[in-house]
Amino acid sequence: MKTHLWFALVLVSSLALADAPLVVDGNPMAVIVTADHPGEVARYAAQEFAHHVEKATGVKLSIVTETAAPKDIPGRVFIGDCQAIRDAGIEVGKLPEEAFALRTKGQSLMIAGDDSGGDPLEASTRAGTLWGVYEWLEKELHARWLWPGELGTYVPKATSVVAHEISETTPPRFFQRKLRPGLGFTSEHPALGFTEAAAEQFKQDEMVFLRRHRMGRSFPFGHGHAFVDWWKKDGKAHPEWFQLRDNGQRGPSKAGGRFSMCVSNPGLQREIVARWAARRGGGSGAPSFLNACENDILGLCTCEQCRALDGPAPADYLKFYSATSKMVGARFVSDRYAHFWLSLQELAAQTDPEASVVGYVYFNYFQAPVTGIRLNPHILLGFCPSSGFFPRSEEEQAWMKRQWSGWHDTGARLFMRTNHLLDGYCMPFIFAHQFADEFHHAASEGMVATDYDSLTGHWGTQGPNLYVAARLHTRPEASADELLAEYYAAFGAAAPLVKSYFDYWEAYTSEHREQIKKTMEEMKASRWHSWAVAAGALYPPTCFPPAETLLARAAQVAAADPESAARTHFLQLGLDHAKLCARISAKLTIAAPAATQEEAKALLAELIAFRRQTEKSGISNFNHLAWMEDSSWKLTDETRKTPDLYP
Ligand SMILES: [Zn+2]
Repeated sequence: MKTHLWFALVLVSSLALADAPLVVDGNPMAVIVTADHPGEVARYAAQEFAHHVEKATGVKLSIVTETAAPKDIPGRVFIGDCQAIRDAGIEVGKLPEEAFALRTKGQSLMIAGDDSGGDPLEASTRAGTLWGVYEWLEKELHARWLWPGELGTYVPKATSVVAHEISETTPPRFFQRKLRPGLGFTSEHPALGFTEAAAEQFKQDEMVFLRRHRMGRSFPFGHGHAFVDWWKKDGKAHPEWFQLRDNGQRGPSKAGGRFSMCVSNPGLQREIVARWAARRGGGSGAPSFLNACENDILGLCTCEQCRALDGPAPADYLKFYSATSKMVGARFVSDRYAHFWLSLQELAAQTDPEASVVGYVYFNYFQAPVTGIRLNPHILLGFCPSSGFFPRSEEEQAWMKRQWSGWHDTGARLFMRTNHLLDGYCMPFIFAHQFADEFHHAASEGMVATDYDSLTGHWGTQGPNLYVAARLHTRPEASADELLAEYYAAFGAAAPLVKSYFDYWEAYTSEHREQIKKTMEEMKASRWHSWAVAAGALYPPTCFPPAETLLARAAQVAAADPESAARTHFLQLGLDHAKLCARISAKLTIAAPAATQEEAKALLAELIAFRRQTEKSGISNFNHLAWMEDSSWKLTDETRKTPDLYP
């Protein structure tokens, strides 16, 4: 008690004048104040503030409205637009989209930002006030969100909380921050997935987590393969808009097949712009985007005009594609697509000089152009490599970064639109450092937004990848090691052992780079869709013991502290589950199923029992796994039942 009192006195006497004590020695010194009729975002932001302060100190600060604020407690935390915020000169209506202001004034902390109406957990809701709260919680309480749910929420214990003097206004670094939530996977064998209740909890926790990492956007931003239904609608009247094939015919090579466009055709270009102009809403103030992302196929037009725009294929054009890639034999067409986007942008500018044309750099138009074509910031390109899964060789990593630089050098703006996070199944497949290196490079060369496909959510085994991926969106300059140190710190005394544990897996992943590629090819497994085919071959029983030893030691060291112990147990569950999946993969893989029907039934029953017991732990997105196992394993009919009915 004495030490506490002494500490409190020292604390209070060491405060700068503008510092505001919120909790002193376990006593509330402030209330949280919102407007009398706060918006949904401000209301939720106040709850999040109170929740985290309570997690740190055990003290629950009251949330009151401005006119009902009690006089006997001196401190104030004003959250969201209200009279006091306006009196302090903060005009939220004049802030940039999603920006927030943090100020201290007398005994008050003020947090207010640009909010739109709507559900605070929805990605499209602008939530500047909420971003301000999270920024403050990170800075002052050192709150860290390791994975979704309470266990993954780390707030160091404190007896006192002070709002130190601050005055800053901060817009988000990227206008869209997006890890696709990965919640839509379904399977013909749903018994391997979540029960409905567990799926709902997983979703809720993940949505909260994503917002804590400030995932969202400043304004609507639509893109995606743009001309998918054009052949059906326009193929008869305007065959010249579509790819010319070697046989002299236009359009898809078979009925219902995919097709690319004849992107050099001026009539097509005019029509794309005319349709955009007819659809675009005016007056909302939000930027207008013209979607010109080619269909989900290589650029295939062989007409003379398209070919005339192409540059020579670079010497390293196919260097990093596998022998089975669709890219083999494909003409290099980046320059023609650059011309296409530029032509569209120049046409669109006649209607709206600020409009941006959106394209994907993808397949045979992924590699940077070579003819010196100059684009401009009203062309916004999604960086979408069709190879390049992690881990990469140093040479391949450098190649990938050169493609980013090459497009950046054209003057276009870029956003990250990679599929690499779909990789790795639920294995301890770690590439956090290389991922961060790519992100840093992109952020330092003009990245304006992200759209990662997808957050598969295997938190129990792939935590470092996912934490770094999320955290870089608000700390794009922080090194992987700095960010991982935050993650490991949540394991208390076990932090060094947990670091060694993930270092082991990251080294294992990089050392097996060639083997992963080779095995996946030999077993005809897809990195993003059927990884579970190869899990048994790539994670044999011999790879687990060193990791298990490290985790067992971590558990011993963490035992004295329940929170660290529970987090270590979470990793153990994740590893046990991964090991079980690898063992089953070795027996049931479609490539060479080795189990009898009876053995298969027993193995799947074991897996389902494990998943039912742990499905609310949050270690893995079991629906993603069921989707992948569907196309990876020889399954039995039992697993076709819904999980609520099985076993
Ligand atoms: Zn053409």
